[in-house]
Amino acid sequence: MTLRLFNTLTGQLDALEPADGKALRMYACGPTVYDYGHIGNFRTFLQIDLLRRFLRLSGVAVRHVMNITDVDDKIIRNAAAAGIPIGEYTKQYVDAFFEDLEALRVDRPEQIARATEHIPQMVELIEKLAAAGAAYKVEDGSWYFRLKSFPEYGKLSKKDLSGMEDGARVDVDEYEKDSARDFALWKAPKPNETFWDTAIGPGRPGWHIECSAMAMEYLGESFDLHCGGEDLMFPHHENEIAQSETATHKQFARHWMHVRFLLVDGRKMSKSESNFYTLRDLLLKGFKASAIRLALISVPYRRPFNFTFDSLTDATNAIDRLRTFRDRLTKGAFATGSNQAIRGAAKKAQTDYRDALSNDLNTAEACAAIFEMVREANTVIDRGLFHLSDRDAVLAVLADFDAVFDVLEDRDAEPTRRALAWADQAGRMSEVAPELIAAQSLTDEAIKALVAERTAAKKARNFVRADEIRSALAERGVILEDSKDGVRWKRK
Ligand code: AMP
Ligand code: ZN
Repeated sequence: MTLRLFNTLTGQLDALEPADGKALRMYACGPTVYDYGHIGNFRTFLQIDLLRRFLRLSGVAVRHVMNITDVDDKIIRNAAAAGIPIGEYTKQYVDAFFEDLEALRVDRPEQIARATEHIPQMVELIEKLAAAGAAYKVEDGSWYFRLKSFPEYGKLSKKDLSGMEDGARVDVDEYEKDSARDFALWKAPKPNETFWDTAIGPGRPGWHIECSAMAMEYLGESFDLHCGGEDLMFPHHENEIAQSETATHKQFARHWMHVRFLLVDGRKMSKSESNFYTLRDLLLKGFKASAIRLALISVPYRRPFNFTFDSLTDATNAIDRLRTFRDRLTKGAFATGSNQAIRGAAKKAQTDYRDALSNDLNTAEACAAIFEMVREANTVIDRGLFHLSDRDAVLAVLADFDAVFDVLEDRDAEPTRRALAWADQAGRMSEVAPELIAAQSLTDEAIKALVAERTAAKKARNFVRADEIRSALAERGVILEDSKDGVRWKRK
C-alpha cells in the first residue's frame, strides 16, 4: 500500500516513498520556544505524527528530524526582559513542549535538533553561499541571501516575483505576507544581545538557515519529505529551498506537506490574535488529552479546521463509544463459531480504513469506516449473533485504528494530573473546572471502596444508600455502569 500525499511543490498527489528504498527521511519544522505551544501548533505536530504512524503501519521505516528554534527575535527580547540567559528562558518551554507532546501521545522524532547546538553547520553553509556569490555582508556585519541569485525562487508557493527589487532587504523573523526580499542569513548583534563569535563575524543565525543546515546535517543534501504548517510555505520554506539548492545544486526535499490552519471563528489561531488555547488550558477545563488528540487529527490535514468546544465533546463521545465497544468484545462471553457477515464487515472496514489514509491521509473517512464496523458489530452482538472467532477479526481492525489514532487505552489521568500540578504551581487554580477538582480529590482506591459499599448495600436491599453513593460519585465526576460482569466506573 503506497501513501499518496499532496505535494505542495508539484501541486498534485504524489506517491510518498523512501528514495533510498530503506527509510523515509523527513524533516518537520519544530516549535519556536518562546512560550507554551497552542493547539493550532499541535494540530500540525499531530498530523505529522499521524503521517509517520501510518507510514509505519504500512511497513515504511521513518527517519524523522525535528528542530527546536531556541534563538530568535522574540526569545532574545523576552529573555532580556526577564533578565536571564536565553538557554534558561527557553528551557521551561522546551520541557513544556515535550510534556505536551507526550500528553497528546505524539511519537518522538528519531532526531531532535536544537538551533543553538548547530551554529558551526550554519556558518559553514553561509560561507558556501558567500563563495557562490549568493550571500553578501552589509555594513553592520549581518549577512543576507541574494534572492536574484536563485531564479527558481517562488516555485513552492507559486508566487510571482516579477516586481521584486534586487537588494531590498528584510531582517526580522516575522514577514509581511507578500514581500519577497533578500533575507537575513546571519544577524549582527545589537547592544546587549546574545551572539556567537564565528568565522563570518559575531552574531546569530537567521531562522531559515537553521532548518537548511540541520536538515542537511541529519538527512543529507537531498531527502524525501519536508513538513510544516501552511504559514511556513512562504517565506520560510521558500527560503530554505533557495539557500539549500544554491549551496548544493541538488533538490532539497522532493515532497512538501503543509498542514492547514486550526481556526477560531474563521481566523488563524495564533498568539498575536489572542484567540488561542494551550493544551493546558483545555485540560484544566476538564477535556481529556485523548479527546483533544482525536479532535485535532480527525479533520483531514488539508482542510482548515474551525475549532469549537463541541468538537472536543464529540471526540470525547466517540472515544467512549470505541472503548465501551472494545470492552464489550474483550469481556463478553460469546458462543463458539463465526459469523460470515461480521467477518466481511471487518474486512471491509480494514480495507476502507487503510484506503482512506492512503488517499492523502483522509482521517475523516478512515474514522467513518471504523465507526461503521462498530455499529454493525454492536447490532450483531445485541442480537446474540456474534461469535468467539469473530472477535479476533474485529479486534485486529481496532488495533490498526489504534496504531495510528492511539486513543483506545485510557491514559488520560496522568496528563490531567500533571496539568493540575502545573496550575497549582503557576497560580492558575482559579481556571480549573470545579468538577475536575472534585474528581481529583477522590483516589481510585476511595472510588473502589465506595463502589464495593454500594454493591453490598444493593445486595442487602438498602437501595437508598446505594443511590446515595451513586449520586455522590456522579457529583465528583465518576460514572458507574452496571453490567452483567459487575460494576464498571470511569471518571467523566
Ligand atoms: P511556531 O512555533 O510558531 O514556529 O509554529 C510551530 C508549528 O505550528 C509550525 O509548523 C506552524 O506552521 C504551525 N502552526 C502555527 N499556527 C498554526 C495554526 N493555527 N494551525 C495549524 N498549525 C499552526
Ligand atoms: Zn523550518
